[in-house]
Amino acid sequence: MKIGFIGMGHMGGPMVSNLAAAGHQVTGCDPVAPCPEGVAKAATNAEAATGAEVVITMLPNGAILRTVAAEIIPAMTPGAVFLDCSTVDVESARDVARDAVAAGLGALDAPVSGGMGGAAAGTLTFMVGGEAAALETARPLFDVMGQKTVHCGPSGNGQAAKICNNMILGATMAVTYEAFALADKLGLDRQAMFDVVSTSSGYSWTMNAYCPAPGIGPQSPADNGNKPGFAAELMLKDLRLSQQAAEAVDADTPVGARATALYAEFVEQEDGRGRDFSALLPRFEARGRT
Ligand code: NAD
Repeated sequence: MKIGFIGMGHMGGPMVSNLAAAGHQVTGCDPVAPCPEGVAKAATNAEAATGAEVVITMLPNGAILRTVAAEIIPAMTPGAVFLDCSTVDVESARDVARDAVAAGLGALDAPVSGGMGGAAAGTLTFMVGGEAAALETARPLFDVMGQKTVHCGPSGNGQAAKICNNMILGATMAVTYEAFALADKLGLDRQAMFDVVSTSSGYSWTMNAYCPAPGIGPQSPADNGNKPGFAAELMLKDLRLSQQAAEAVDADTPVGARATALYAEFVEQEDGRGRDFSALLPRFEARGRT
């Protein structure tokens, strides 16, 4: 397939590499990141989009997505698919999709889960919003870049699924390291707590697969100096998107709001930037209730 790819950073770089390695004809554009092997370099985003059957964007936020969309939608061939894989606010995703559809394009929002490891291995999960026909056009590309694609409904619903998932992730991680710090103060051995919780009703992905206590459970960033993994600032970004969405639809999310505040403190007032999102356990070990 002839593909345009815009935003070849930490995630986009390995994703576009996999598409080129699978034999697709890919033209990429990024003002900073280098073009991986096998990918032709375009001077502008519009040039990367011209003549492509599918244009993929993997960008930092909704404002940049809107700017890029305004550049590429007029350059795209009617019938082509605009596939945004960035994590952005639901409103930007829906507005961009509406403009793309008005220009005769297919439009999909398809944020991913799986991180840089999943991008490199081609094992991402895609949560897709948009029309089924556009999804079928893009399916061979999802199959190269990922191992699971879930159609979540109309435009914006991919982003809705992503932020609901990540609100659960942030809040669950928070209560997991909180529980370890409480266990310490109660004199409960961490290994014993893990053995009980990981096989009891408190089990979760954050406890069982990504345990924030070093030396306990499977290997995780806690065993590797808290190097991300999934960086705390990306967790904060997604939690803020969840609160922005909750505000827009008047949904009450007190636990998500508290997790957002915790990560904001960690990233913006403490030493959290550049560390994994599970790295708050030492902070809780050191603190009392006030
Ligand atoms: P990144 O900052 O490494 O990559 C973004 C790229 O977009 C950069 O290379 C940047 O130069 C490029 N860019 C910025 N403005 C542009 C423009 N106007 N035109 C063309 N290119 C432009 O970020 P990333 O880690 O690759 O994340 C990309 C998206 O994926 C984000 O929305 C992020 O939330 C989401 N995401 C990231 C991860 C992760 O683990 N890194 C996991 C899941 C989802």
